[in-house]
Amino acid sequence: MPFLGLPERLREVRQRIAAAVTRGGHGQQVTVVAVTKTHGPDAVLAAWEAGLRDVGENRVQEALDKMTAVSVPVCWHLIGHLQRNKARAVSKFAMVHSLDSARLADAVNAEGIAAGRAIDVLVQVNVVGEQSKGGLAPAELAAEADRLAGLKGLRVRGVMTMAPLDADEGTLRRVFGGARAARAVVRAAGHPATELSMGMSNDYEVAVEEGATFVRLGTILFGARDA
Ligand SMILES: *Cc1c(COP(=O)(O)O)cnc(C)c1O
Repeated sequence: MPFLGLPERLREVRQRIAAAVTRGGHGQQVTVVAVTKTHGPDAVLAAWEAGLRDVGENRVQEALDKMTAVSVPVCWHLIGHLQRNKARAVSKFAMVHSLDSARLADAVNAEGIAAGRAIDVLVQVNVVGEQSKGGLAPAELAAEADRLAGLKGLRVRGVMTMAPLDADEGTLRRVFGGARAARAVVRAAGHPATELSMGMSNDYEVAVEEGATFVRLGTILFGARDA
């Protein structure tokens, strides 16, 4: 049976999240997004059976294939970089976590207007200026948040970030605390920005202490990916 032990691992993760909420003192609700990338549709079914209701994929085509392969009504989250020529697909997702440029925002806005409903998005913020990662710099956020407030085809629900691989705890706190500050900037521009998507298998407890409302977990739930 695939993904044996998932319910037990999820139970421990949820306990660790609850403890981290208490330590951090932000009092937030935390949603686990089960990251099923590289796994087959059976991972989505296993997640559903274990009680997870949110699934994250980083590639559009892989997500669309799984959507057609399973019938369980999970909420699909797009967590990876979206090429503008694939923006058409955004209306299939409950939320796009990776709004990483002004040009992509314009493409998503156009799709939302065409679909007749605003697309829920998170603005990806690159807190420490990592070259290998996308996202807006904190310094450009206020002006872009003002501009986004004029786009009716999307709704900015918060901020997403990723910490550098192998970051020490000080760096993690700087990145996650910086994302929390970025959410306040977005909110000040008038957006309904209550969400903070941050934390992966190796750093989710610190992220929750710093206020994460979505943690995106793959390896710790489903095991190591081959690809
Ligand atoms: C793969 C991925 C994750 C999950 O990573 P794990 O370390 O396996 O938990 C989270 N967020 C994004 C954007 C990813 O691409």
